[in-house]
Amino acid sequence: MPIRIAIVGYGKIAKDQHVPSIIADPRFELVAISTRSRDHGSGLPCYPEPEKLFTEFGGRLDAVAICTPPVVRHAIARDALRAGLHVLLEKPPAATLGEIEHLCGIARETGRTLYTGWHSQHASGVARAAEALAGAKVAKLHISWLEDVRKWHPGQEWIWAPGGFGVFDPGVNALSIATRILPEPLFVREASLLFPENKQAPIAATLTFAGDDMRAEMDWRFTEGEQWTIRAETDAGRTVELRDGGARLFIDGIQQEVGEHGEYPSIYNRFAELIESGASEVDREPLRIVADAFMVGRRELTEPFA
Ligand code: NAP
Repeated sequence: MPIRIAIVGYGKIAKDQHVPSIIADPRFELVAISTRSRDHGSGLPCYPEPEKLFTEFGGRLDAVAICTPPVVRHAIARDALRAGLHVLLEKPPAATLGEIEHLCGIARETGRTLYTGWHSQHASGVARAAEALAGAKVAKLHISWLEDVRKWHPGQEWIWAPGGFGVFDPGVNALSIATRILPEPLFVREASLLFPENKQAPIAATLTFAGDDMRAEMDWRFTEGEQWTIRAETDAGRTVELRDGGARLFIDGIQQEVGEHGEYPSIYNRFAELIESGASEVDREPLRIVADAFMVGRRELTEPFA
């Protein structure tokens, strides 16, 4: 019998990626959604409040994918786990480290699967990049995560609010790849966070990590396409570079054959495996680095964003 799953938060990522990935995977059956929108057009049973989905539809549901903005995710995930459901969290998995710790505890108590689906970790080149760096000493790291906020986040006011992450919403994707491929943890030494005068979240950030030449640049004011690149150099001079958000891999400048698979089908594959084996998988590291950046970061102001 397939895993009966519902989606909570029926926005861009739910429609673009979660729905087609669930439909394409015979181990899942999409049975309901929770959205406040009246004209969602999904054709599925719909509950405006997630609690009602869990109580009223609960007996016909095994799992839930939570695709809301992070700031409201904790309470929804808590209620879902307590209702006996397996939970897939969109990235970033929570608004704070405290919230994700709490959810881990509930998943342990209830014996349900909790999975933090960092989609960029599933990009085609990432696993091979991790293999290439295994056991190496990384001497240099340059992360460049540049995109146009008007192109990628039109009308998303939540992203500028406290807990909305600002430029770290895409930037945490880079951090999720870096923490997956690097053999050692990253520690933020300095950070510079640039806030528009009228917003509560940064539009750009520069992070310097412990080490001689380890840094990340994230900027939402880039209007010439996208640059989503991570370049690591080992002390032996070997370079491992991921481009296009992890889809393409270059080792010592030579492009590697990595195949092509979708990030979200891979997330659902892993979610099914975890449910089947009764395990959870919770990766807090990317979120920990964002939290550290906010803790040590210098706040700077720039012109209002309109
Ligand atoms: P979105 O289009 O704004 O959709 C978010 C949905 O969450 C809304 O449609 C809304 O759905 C629901 N929601 C519940 N409480 C909300 C609140 N307090 N404020 C705003 N919306 C609320 O956002 P999205 O782009 O899908 O992003 C959602 C999550 O997916 C974020 O964590 C983001 O980082 C992640 N993500 C996004 C992308 C992307 O390309 N957009 C890619 C990967 C991951 P209802 O109207 O249905 O209630």
